[in-house]
Amino acid sequence: MSPLPRFSLLPMQISHYIKVYPLEDRFVLFSTKRASSVVLDRDMYDSVKDGSLSPEDAQTLSGLGFLVPDAKEERAAMPGFLDEANAASTHLNTIVVLNLDCNLSCRYCYEGTMKGRSYMDQETADLFVRHVESSLTPRKKSLNIDFYGGEPLLSLKLIKYISSRIKDIAESKGIIYTFTLVTNGTLLTRGVAEELAPLGLKGAKVTLDGIKPNHDKYRPYKSGKGSFDRIVQNIKDTCDIIRIGIGGNFEKSNYTSFPVLLDYLAEEGLTPGKISSVKFDPITRTHNEQAPADFKDVGCDSINEPWLIEAGVVLREEILKRGYNTPKVSPAICMIDIHDDFVVNHDGALYKCPALIGTSGFEVGDLRIGLRQYGESHNLDNWKNDECLGCEYLPLCFGGCRYMKYLRDGDLSGVDCKRPYLDATLETFLKQDIKYRMRPLS
Ligand code: SF4
Ligand code: SF4
Repeated sequence: MSPLPRFSLLPMQISHYIKVYPLEDRFVLFSTKRASSVVLDRDMYDSVKDGSLSPEDAQTLSGLGFLVPDAKEERAAMPGFLDEANAASTHLNTIVVLNLDCNLSCRYCYEGTMKGRSYMDQETADLFVRHVESSLTPRKKSLNIDFYGGEPLLSLKLIKYISSRIKDIAESKGIIYTFTLVTNGTLLTRGVAEELAPLGLKGAKVTLDGIKPNHDKYRPYKSGKGSFDRIVQNIKDTCDIIRIGIGGNFEKSNYTSFPVLLDYLAEEGLTPGKISSVKFDPITRTHNEQAPADFKDVGCDSINEPWLIEAGVVLREEILKRGYNTPKVSPAICMIDIHDDFVVNHDGALYKCPALIGTSGFEVGDLRIGLRQYGESHNLDNWKNDECLGCEYLPLCFGGCRYMKYLRDGDLSGVDCKRPYLDATLETFLKQDIKYRMRPLS
């Protein structure tokens, strides 16, 4: 049998969009385009660099995105990356804000003075159903609607009305319909979950701002009474029916207390197998000038703040080491860049980002009049410059979060560069995943 050709005979090069980190006497390679990682010993890594891999190994690493036929061409093709992803997408995700009302009175509420008794009416709900129906092109295979508020479960009747109509429409086209709730959790009883699950309810993201004293301080009912016990009970009562994701909002002074919440949940029987995901995020500074002063002072407006980098690493470790699931590092495509995805406000106004709802100048249309061009107002191509195209973090960033940029500077020009944050965290995040989620190498 003739010897197998060596990798040097194959036209393969190392992808531009990879990061390499030492791991004891081995190396972790991470493809930022594919979110794939592999651990190689020194000999294998040397073979990658000098092109002497066996064809089988070259093929495996090429399949994982570490090797490409031509690194220059790969980079030259990146400006079309999001257009290709949009063209290939078979999924549609829509966020709908059903009301701006709430039964809680959170200290840092993002809706500030927008909050009130504004509810989506029947006419707008019907327009919304028609909008979704017209977006279900033959390419689409699945549809998810995120019901937002205020508190979406204050509009339970409307959730049932919209979901039953959309479920029928989607299923008649062979499309799988699901919906999710972003809810404070106080109204998510077992009865509600049982009623909504047959209509497509897949999961809910519930917020717990740390242990009871902290949570109750930040998220009381309007009466002033704490909401923690009710929410935990509702999670226990529903986690066998739907997927419950737990979120929480921390600030610099309290994030170290959040791991105690995880211990409490486990003691209460809400073990990792019962919770689909846990992720804590910083309280974001508001752009609403009339928001409470304590919120304006504590909220962050950049992912690169040193304390925030440390908090993110520490909390992720605490989540993983207790066996809970948390999102992996993966390409970050902002909703603004996903052509078919929209946010529909309770009054029918269309937006491209949930955080920009109600911000003048960022409506991109209305269910009644249709869509306007938003490429310029939303700075769509902000990452198509030499620096970003040459940046190995590009697929994890694509110019960062335009909302954060707006918070800091009052406009969307330029990028919200994540480089300091990724420089400081990516290596640790990957090593956390290897430690807690990868099967040991033989
Ligand atoms: S601008 Fe930021 S907050 Fe808004 S959709 Fe994009 S990534 Fe999300
Ligand atoms: S904004 Fe910064 S991190 Fe993001 S792609 Fe551009 S240079 Fe890289």
